[in-house]
Amino acid sequence: MGCLNRNAVEPTSAGMPQIPPTDLAELRDFLVNAGVAFHWVAEDGTILWANSAELEMMGYGAGEYIGHDIAEFYVDQPVIADILARLKNDEKLKDYEARLRCKDGSIRHVAVSSSVYRKDGDFIHSRCVTQDITAQKKAAELQQRLCAIVESSDDAIIAKDLNGVILSWNRGAERIFGYKADEMIGKHISVLAAPDRLDEIPDILDRLRRGERVEHFKTKRRAKDGRILTVSLTVSPLIDPRGGIIGASKVARDITISESQAEALRVANNALSAVNADLEQFVYSASHDLQEPLRMVAAYSEMLTRTFRDKLGPDGAEYLDYVLQGALRMEQLLKDLRAYTLVSTSRQPPVENSDSGVALERALAVLRPAISDSGARITSAALPIVKLQQFRLEQLFQNLISNALRYRGAACPEIRVSAEADGNGWQFAVQDNGIGIDPKYKEQIFELFKRLHSVAEYPGTGMGLAICKRIVERAGGRIWVESEPGRGSTFYFTIPQRT
Ligand code: ADP
Repeated sequence: MGCLNRNAVEPTSAGMPQIPPTDLAELRDFLVNAGVAFHWVAEDGTILWANSAELEMMGYGAGEYIGHDIAEFYVDQPVIADILARLKNDEKLKDYEARLRCKDGSIRHVAVSSSVYRKDGDFIHSRCVTQDITAQKKAAELQQRLCAIVESSDDAIIAKDLNGVILSWNRGAERIFGYKADEMIGKHISVLAAPDRLDEIPDILDRLRRGERVEHFKTKRRAKDGRILTVSLTVSPLIDPRGGIIGASKVARDITISESQAEALRVANNALSAVNADLEQFVYSASHDLQEPLRMVAAYSEMLTRTFRDKLGPDGAEYLDYVLQGALRMEQLLKDLRAYTLVSTSRQPPVENSDSGVALERALAVLRPAISDSGARITSAALPIVKLQQFRLEQLFQNLISNALRYRGAACPEIRVSAEADGNGWQFAVQDNGIGIDPKYKEQIFELFKRLHSVAEYPGTGMGLAICKRIVERAGGRIWVESEPGRGSTFYFTIPQRT
């Protein structure tokens, strides 16, 4: 058989293209090697023949596939039963979707197109074209998943072209801005701009055209009902597979509430600070004004004792002595209270570089009488320059060393002051060999008026450590104690090296 005019494809009388004259070998070669997978199936489902594209797609050799029941390769049995039934009824199948199991166990999504070839009314075979649509299916599933994520997002996710025309609008955008998707798709993005932010939009579009991203840009947008929202925008260029910029995706997060909460917190904090400052000012003034009448009480009770001692008798003198002691103690309390409030008054001198060695010397000079009375031995290592007002450092050393002297044990007080760099500044230690502290009180002793002893046992007001804590915390550091009853105490405090 010769091979004739290959270009001549004349329509048949039924309008179908006519196959050009060709020989059988050529036709067979075409079927076997065509890029499209196809096979023939008998009425009972036996595979009669399959071409190489089909065998390749399924991963089987001809002997492992041809002659087998087609149902063996279908994942869903009702599907192949339906296909065979339809074919038997001479239905023509077009892109009927099914799942086939390949030799390696993988599953392929296919679109089957098939019809029956009959001769003299007999079912000779069905001829099936099997198109592998796995990649499209996976892409569609991925797209579906992405769409679901976009739709379920609380943020507004909007796509727009490079002219700012809105292309997509998710449910988050509907919720935040109040417009439905069909109201916004096709509109210009500037519909959303707050009136005073209109000029931002061309600038953002210019940046996108240059391929730049706009990240966490805080701005104002207007909702459908006219409310002005504070939003945080992240806008990224949308790039096509060839690398061209075709538009932008914009994620807008409504931060109106968190912004207003932050603002409310700021206002409340300011109000609280103002109330605190007033309160401290009040405490300071009251403790200052009470000083005078107290001095009078003390002075007159002393005068009474001196002038009328004989007339008062022993009981009267003793009672007056209590009055005097009470007045003196109250005077000390008021003095400490003033010192405490002064640590945090707003009018603080600027933080300076202070020599802590000098501060220690000055504190020891003030404490000299108590030191010599107790016979204490006080030693110190080389001490650093730190960022804290000199007089605050003196106050710290004075309080801690005076405690170490007062809360001494039977032995002569041994007190050691040292400091070491702690990475972010300095850590000081004031160590004594005194009565020690039960660890369960190691937090409480820094509270205002907290004392572990009566005044008769050890005089004091319970304010020294509270003052120390305030000074240290104001400097950004912390203070703590390590101690055990009877084994001395070490008070530590840190002063960060602020820049
Ligand atoms: P005050 O000494 O006036 O009572 P502080 O605030 O300085 O007030 O101290 C609180 C309490 O902590 C003291 O009453 C005392 O019980 C305990 N304390 C402080 N320093 C020491 C120390 N070095 N050794 C043992 N106990 C101490």
